[in-house]
Amino acid sequence: MTIASHSNPLTGPQPAGAASGPELQRCEQCGRVGVRGFRVLPATEYTKPITLCASKAACRKRWPKPHHEIA
Ligand SMILES: [Zn+2]
Repeated sequence: MTIASHSNPLTGPQPAGAASGPELQRCEQCGRVGVRGFRVLPATEYTKPITLCASKAACRKRWPKPHHEIA
């Protein structure tokens, strides 16, 4: 394990909320966390935006238990 060499000892890591890199996303169905391979369902009148795996089939395989089909 090595400490990130580009970290400036004077300023330290970037404060939370100021990062300009890709943000971690979390699938709301299977709980997968990452920065790629996600799609976001746009908000509707009744729901807020929903983050899901881009691959629906792969997402379902990660579900801890089988659930009723959603849509
Ligand atoms: Zn998923």
